[in-house]
Amino acid sequence: MAKESEGSSVAVDLIDFLNASPTAFHAVDEAKKRLRSAGYEQVSEREDWKLEAGKKYFFTRNHSTIVAFAIGKKYVTGNGFHVIGAHTDSPCLKLKPVSKVSKGEYLEVGIQTYGGGLWHTWFDRDLTVAGRMIINEGKDGCVSYSHRLVRIGEPIMRIPTLAIHLDRDVNDGFKVNTQSHLLPVLATSIKAELNKVVSDNVPVESGNSVDGKKSNENQKHHSLLLQLLADEVGCQPYDICDFELQACDTQPSIIAGATKEFIYSGRLDNLCMSFCSLKALIDATSSESSLAEETGVRMVALFDHEEVGSNSAQGAGSPVMLDALSRITSSFSSEFKLLEKAIQKSFIVSADMAHALHPNYMDRHEDNHQPKLHGGLVIKNNANQRYATNAVTSFIFREIANKHSLPIQDFVVRNDMACGSTIGPILASGTGIRTVDVGAPQLSMHSIREMCAIDDVKHSYKHFKAFFQEFSHLDAKITVDI
Ligand SMILES: [Zn+2]
Repeated sequence: MAKESEGSSVAVDLIDFLNASPTAFHAVDEAKKRLRSAGYEQVSEREDWKLEAGKKYFFTRNHSTIVAFAIGKKYVTGNGFHVIGAHTDSPCLKLKPVSKVSKGEYLEVGIQTYGGGLWHTWFDRDLTVAGRMIINEGKDGCVSYSHRLVRIGEPIMRIPTLAIHLDRDVNDGFKVNTQSHLLPVLATSIKAELNKVVSDNVPVESGNSVDGKKSNENQKHHSLLLQLLADEVGCQPYDICDFELQACDTQPSIIAGATKEFIYSGRLDNLCMSFCSLKALIDATSSESSLAEETGVRMVALFDHEEVGSNSAQGAGSPVMLDALSRITSSFSSEFKLLEKAIQKSFIVSADMAHALHPNYMDRHEDNHQPKLHGGLVIKNNANQRYATNAVTSFIFREIANKHSLPIQDFVVRNDMACGSTIGPILASGTGIRTVDVGAPQLSMHSIREMCAIDDVKHSYKHFKAFFQEFSHLDAKITVDI
């Protein structure tokens, strides 16, 4: 029973993490809170770092990527980094720079698609908006701006499907035109008019100033939406200078299924792996003695923009990982070439959700590679390097599972189907670090509502924790390049 309750308590904790994280910004915020309360100290990339062996730190970039690390008490410069990487973003609908759309007496919200979502799943859901805003907080002529996260709790909009009576062939194949069919309805214009707050409601970035306040001219967003956002953060609509917002599902993540074995939730790809790696790092560095014998640096890096190729200032394609390794290495010694040595001693686990076998589409899986729910982490292979795994990296990762009697499975895509990819090959090629691609199995990947199994959350957490605790010891036994 003890084992079972441990499994469900990790899953319950994941549910809390998911419910706190409607966007990548919120996921980073939640990660920050957890790291702080576990004794991790925030450092800024804009400042000099004074790091000490045996201590724990984190930094964020763009507030959508976060890197946390704990330095072993026996760490010396040139020793390796033991990293688990995952991503904070998920496919979603992001508001356009001008989101105000009025059609047929309805107020709609203009959106652009982000990543490769299953867009048909966004219809008929109770939606809201969340993201970040730049707020003018200047007083008495002093200019000051704050960066604030925002989330409206209530369902405020919906993308209605078209009735079957108006599209009799829809069940033969539902095709979504993402420009014209995917606009959430915010209100009817008549009710919006009646609801109008008498104020200088305002354009985000509209510019024109009237008596020190911005005017209604060229308004880019519905004033109804701006008022809701302003109410949420406790400012005036004209104080909202700019924002990055996205549509989100309001239905909370839950543990469900006839035997309560599943998690139903949005963003499991990849907040599930983000959570498991973060929790593993926190728990593998929590006690006084946990870093006493550690010679390396234990690290978790959660990146934004994986779903769109990772090429941004804070994505896995950016220098963020190398910057972190180089700054940690050089803060202990300025000796030349120690980073290159450290890189060859390092290891990355690229953790991103995997495809479980779907009972209704069995033919979409390769016969010998059919990951099952509850089957543990999936090691992903691809000869063409869509995944970074090789025999050495998969052996090391599998060995950790064997030692702890954790289940593990293999995945390779069918030769007649295209293969997905992850941050694994991007980090491996960008840094030269040995990498294994793994992930917990799930169904409905990229749907607004996905599902996975609670046992796999427990297996992933334990596997990652054991990786942090044992990698240094295990790696010392394997030599390839001599
Ligand atoms: Zn993913």
